Formats: sequence, structure tokens, C-alpha cells
Amino acid sequence: MDHDCLFCRIVAGEIPATVVYETPTTLAFRDIDPKAAVHVLVIPKEHYADVVALSADPAASADLLATASSVAEGEGLTGDGFRLMFNTGRFAGQEVFHVHAHVLGGEPLGPMLALR
Ligand code: 5GP
Ligand code: ZN
Repeated sequence: MDHDCLFCRIVAGEIPATVVYETPTTLAFRDIDPKAAVHVLVIPKEHYADVVALSADPAASADLLATASSVAEGEGLTGDGFRLMFNTGRFAGQEVFHVHAHVLGGEPLGPMLALR
């Protein structure tokens, strides 16, 4: 565990979060500042800085995707659709360097990017 990492501290129970789903290797909780009607963050319990680092561990990557799908089902998003997003690095505006998938849905999400 990285004691300076916000999401490691959520995994450790040091910082509260609204958990919606949990497996032995992953945790899903509501984003504190939701950008859509449903906005859930899905993380591996183990620390990886970003999706590039996570991809070196195929089992952890698969666990994260499976949990993201379970969250989408649990939140009732699979019928109308949803967006699964990994911000990675500066250009994408990544703020927390513990990899997290954003599960976004519950309403039409608009264009993929605000730029164009
Ligand atoms: P990023 O920009 O790194 O892809 O996304 C970080 C996300 O974490 C943001 O959507 C932000 O609202 C969320 N966030 C930041 N701090 C906290 C927190 O303490 N608890 C929760 N649940 N979400 C957080
Ligand atoms: Zn971490």
C-alpha cells in the first residue's frame, strides 16, 4: 500500500467511500464529484499508477474489466449503454495516480470529447 495514495487509503478504509461492489482484488465506489447520473470508479486494490502499468498484469486487468461490467449491470446501465474511461497522464487530465476506470451512464453522455 502507498500511504500517500488517496485510492490506496480508500482500499485500506482510512478514507470513507460509498462502495457499490467489491471483489477480493477490486473495489468500486461512487465518484465524489459525479459527472453523470451514474459515475462509479473501479480500481484494483493493488496499486498501479495507470492503465499502462496495470496492463502488465493480465489477471488484474481482467478482474478490473469484470468488475466494471458487474457495476454496469448492477447500476442498470447495460440496456441504454454506458461509457468506460481511463484518463491516463497529463493530456487526459489524470488527477489520481492509482488506476481507475470511470463507469459513466444513467443518461445520454453527449460527445466523446468536449474538444470537438
Ligand atoms: P481522474 O481525473 O484521475 O481520471 O479522476 C479522478 C476522479 O476521482 C475524479 O472524477 C474525482 O472526482 C474523483 N475523486 C477525487 N477524490 C475523491 C475522493 O476522495 N473520493 C471519491 N469517491 N472520488 C474522488
Ligand atoms: Zn494507490
